[in-house]
Amino acid sequence: MNTAKLRAPIATPAAVPIARVALDVPLFTAFDFLAPGFRDADIGRLVIVPFGRAGHTCVGLIVEMVTQTTVPPEKLKAIVRAVGVPPLAPRDLALFAFCERYYHFPLGQIALNAIPPRLRQTKHFSITEMRMVAITNTGRAALATLPARAVVQRAMLSALAETAALREDAVASVYEGGRARLQRLIEKGWAEFRAAVDVPPEARATLTTTHTLNSEQTAAVAAIIAARGTFAPILLEGVTGSGKTEVYLHAIHDALEHQLQALVMVPEINLSPAFVRAVAARFPHARIAELHSGMAEGARTQAWLAAQRGDADIVIGTRLAVFTPLPRLGLIVVDEEHDTSYKQQEGLRYSARDVAVFRAQEVSCPVVLGSATPSLESLHNVARNRFAHIALRARAVVNATLPRVAFIDTNHERLRDGISKALIDAIDETVKRGEQALVFINRRGFAPALVCAQCGWMPSCTRCTARLVFHRGIDRLRCHHCGLTVRVPSHCADCGSHQMIAAGEGTERIESALAAALPEARMARVDRDSTRRVGSLEAIFARAEAGALDVLVGTQMLSKGHDFPNLTLVGVVNADGALFSADFRAAERLAQQIMQVAGRAGRASRGGRVLIQTRFPEHAVFQAIAAQDYPRFAASAMRERKQNHLPPFSYLALLRAESQKPDALNAFLGAAKAAADESAAALQGNQVHVWDAVPSTLTRKAGFERQQLLIQADTRRALQDVLAAWMPLVRALPQRAVRWTLDVDPQEV
Ligand code: ADP
Ligand code: ZN
Ligand code: ZN
Repeated sequence: MNTAKLRAPIATPAAVPIARVALDVPLFTAFDFLAPGFRDADIGRLVIVPFGRAGHTCVGLIVEMVTQTTVPPEKLKAIVRAVGVPPLAPRDLALFAFCERYYHFPLGQIALNAIPPRLRQTKHFSITEMRMVAITNTGRAALATLPARAVVQRAMLSALAETAALREDAVASVYEGGRARLQRLIEKGWAEFRAAVDVPPEARATLTTTHTLNSEQTAAVAAIIAARGTFAPILLEGVTGSGKTEVYLHAIHDALEHQLQALVMVPEINLSPAFVRAVAARFPHARIAELHSGMAEGARTQAWLAAQRGDADIVIGTRLAVFTPLPRLGLIVVDEEHDTSYKQQEGLRYSARDVAVFRAQEVSCPVVLGSATPSLESLHNVARNRFAHIALRARAVVNATLPRVAFIDTNHERLRDGISKALIDAIDETVKRGEQALVFINRRGFAPALVCAQCGWMPSCTRCTARLVFHRGIDRLRCHHCGLTVRVPSHCADCGSHQMIAAGEGTERIESALAAALPEARMARVDRDSTRRVGSLEAIFARAEAGALDVLVGTQMLSKGHDFPNLTLVGVVNADGALFSADFRAAERLAQQIMQVAGRAGRASRGGRVLIQTRFPEHAVFQAIAAQDYPRFAASAMRERKQNHLPPFSYLALLRAESQKPDALNAFLGAAKAAADESAAALQGNQVHVWDAVPSTLTRKAGFERQQLLIQADTRRALQDVLAAWMPLVRALPQRAVRWTLDVDPQEV
């Protein structure tokens, strides 16, 4: 069924139209199906088609309608049926096509993964759409003459008669047998469904104000509003607590007033519900749709369809929301634009921030990238006048200032369980004053290694080249790369000694050390382990906000969401490791993480303090943090990147390959390298460098040997030209026993 170009095209009998359908398969080709009754207007429609073994079907996307095909008539199958949702717009297809070109990933896989899972199912489903129900004139007349015994019908019609319209579920689920009865009212013509638009658009834009914008915020909002209707990427660089959210809300208000939809992206799935509630509270009449992968399938489908119909005014979601169809899109906000979670690390390795900018360009609207600690990529775009720059330099709350930063020099302080007496004392004083403290450590578990005190042996993962992390809570060793979980050995496998000690520290250890030192303090730990259940992070934050917690210990999950006005001390422990990481972005990440988490302190007028435990207080990264001067850090990091010709001064693509068979891996990468050299040589000038394949940082993961091959180019154009030439060659290589992926603009190298 593959539409190979080997045969002469054959017109179909009686000119039945042919639909070219993209499927969720790793192939850069669409598949042809007979599509009787389908027209050009069906391009963008989801359809169910026979595919694979006999009797099997799957959902695909019509990308083209044609009249000829190279598929022989006896092999040509017909579309089974269309999925009962409106087709995607040409603009949506263009977005997928952009991603296909830019990330060199098949359009079918992009498209099918961008839609809610329910729409990918071949079985029939019903979508309980959020509709409104209104009484008709015939309904009013009927109500007057209905016999008294029609109790429920009367009650339903009376309720409807009292208002312009009611939400469908408010009718259907309130009365006994409500759904069936409502259906009968509709059939009789006594009531009718309406799209949920009975609030006039002007009213939907209503923003309840709580703050008068300060002058910096006013200028920021004015700049965004002035850009309405034009492609305008804007970096909103505002220090922590400067009131960026307020700027977003006013910009959204303007979009809504002009009947435009706003797309707001947030980095952390856990914080999305709280953000949605906050926005909903300020826009009481707007229709808000939330979209993230943790939602129930029905709700997600509903929200997506509401957005696609143009019913939703504000769409809030995590990175996947960037693909939401939005016919009236007029503003995009990317909050915490520097956050690495905007980059998907599997399948289509897209950057939702970058896709958002492309999307804004496509529809001609402003895209606001907000951060206290912008990525060097975005700052570079500002420097080259590609992005506008708006700064918020002061905290918004009156009298609130940025926290003071000091160091605890661990060359001189003794640490117990990774924490100094000075830090414990500071936390103690804070709690005794009735204020809150936060301790940040970017490593979960109890200790990153278990080590034999006699010979130094350390248990490592049998499947990866990584040490096992000791989790005391579950009393197990766990691999953070493949998830392997094993018992804690009672003795050393090498020398038999029973003296196995926990080396280094993670969140669990800091928590238990603090609990021992400050038994009175009410404490909670926040990391991926303690917040696995949906809602648990929110619950902890709610307790903290209500003053029911004195100390929070955790990873960078603590750096986002909820304001804690009573939090005045932030402690940072064990941050030095990042200073010596092999990843050229490690310093940038460290500065961002610490400044974000430091920004938690002193949000109110109380003033805040940050204590960083380090052996390198003079290090440039820490000095910039101490000065609360992210721009200074960024400027020096930028100089370094420029010298070393690293992003944003060059453009990277990484071919990652893995295999259980080292020979196969070497053969594949050898051939891939040769093909890359050839592709690079075909380019004008010397703009592209192809590096030799090297073992990945984690050289073995889950039993697979891993290597990577880096391509570095002077310009995005040169990189894309090479990839366009190279990728077809790589795909044509024998790939037995090798899995590979291409990562364009990789975040981790
Ligand atoms: P950011 O996202 O920039 O870190 P937020 O948007 O969370 O900052 O705002 C920080 C705090 O300042 C919030 O409590 C917010 O309610 C408050 N705030 C924002 N704008 C103003 C203003 N104009 N006047 C007073 N307080 C404000
Ligand atoms: Zn030993
Ligand atoms: Zn492992």
